[in-house]
Amino acid sequence: MKGKRILSEMTPYKQGMQIEEVKKEYGLKRIVKLASNENPFGYSRKLQEQLPNMLHDFEIYPDGHTAELRTALAEKLRVNENQLVFGSGSDELVQLTCRAFLYPGVNTVMANPTFPQYKHNAKIEGAEIREIPNHNGYHDLEAIFNAIDENTRVVWLCSPNNPTGCLIPRSDFYSFMDKCPKDVLVVLDEAYYEYIEPGLDPDAINNISNYPNLLILRTFSKAYGLAGLRIGYGVGSERLIAKLNVVRGPFNTTSYTQKAALIALHDDLFIQETYQQNKVIRESFQRFLDNLGLSYYDSHTNFLCVKLPVSGNEMFGYLLKNGYIVRPGEGIGCPNSVRITIGNKEDMIKLQSIIHEFITS
Ligand SMILES: *Cc1c(COP(=O)(O)O)cnc(C)c1O
Repeated sequence: MKGKRILSEMTPYKQGMQIEEVKKEYGLKRIVKLASNENPFGYSRKLQEQLPNMLHDFEIYPDGHTAELRTALAEKLRVNENQLVFGSGSDELVQLTCRAFLYPGVNTVMANPTFPQYKHNAKIEGAEIREIPNHNGYHDLEAIFNAIDENTRVVWLCSPNNPTGCLIPRSDFYSFMDKCPKDVLVVLDEAYYEYIEPGLDPDAINNISNYPNLLILRTFSKAYGLAGLRIGYGVGSERLIAKLNVVRGPFNTTSYTQKAALIALHDDLFIQETYQQNKVIRESFQRFLDNLGLSYYDSHTNFLCVKLPVSGNEMFGYLLKNGYIVRPGEGIGCPNSVRITIGNKEDMIKLQSIIHEFITS
């Protein structure tokens, strides 16, 4: 068998530890998973109520056009329906973007560290990867701009950035967009959009008509709490979206998922509560870290990347034994740190006492 040569140098995505795995290995009854930035408050109650009555005609293919959800989302975002593309999570939209725009001989520019799927998929397409180190967790937009040349096809901006949590300031984003060559696609990954403080929102979708080379990615996996159902979407100019639709599989989101996302989309209260609770708990966790003398990157998300006097793996192991799964920074480009999803209040209070024990012993 002779696959693409690059595949022999690559490994599949290594997911965070699963709850059942840890229970078995450590003989623990209860595990708190704070490793994948899932919503600790679950998902829309309205959706929970409607689940038992949701469609059962699973023998029928889904609507490949995602019409009902498309109409509702277009109305909510005030864009045209053909400015939207749906995917099996925004992960799939990253993959489709690479498939449509990248190939051997061209390059793509991204921050480092950032969401690893940009690099992973770009490598598979054979493109050259240009990684620009962050400044204390923030994208270095000037260096990113300077890395662009006539062979650049895609620039990835992750805002807020995973794994650091830092938000690209609104004015920096627009000055970058204004000077970026119009034939370079800029992907703005807003997976944590719903966690951005209202005044700091760059409002990119509202300004999309000025930037035909801008693709905004959003997801139902994070604040909406539907990671298990796999649905995300992209917003861009009609010409751009039309290209992605060529590479998109005909039935890439399920009928069940489409229906669930539609109900969740209309539950603004759940998103508001999630935002508010996350903010309060994150700020109280930050005060705890301040008192302990631990620093962390600025975050506009439901996670904090905490800097440590030891390796992230060491802290990870200690927390694991105590029933908490977090992400060691070593695996995600942030050595000597851990990325911790903000959980619910009780779980975070217990976590604080375990961290306190670890740091002071
Ligand atoms: C979680 C995440 C995604 C992927 O989310 P999906 O579940 O595939 O929608 C994309 N980008 C960033 C930055 C993320 O953190």
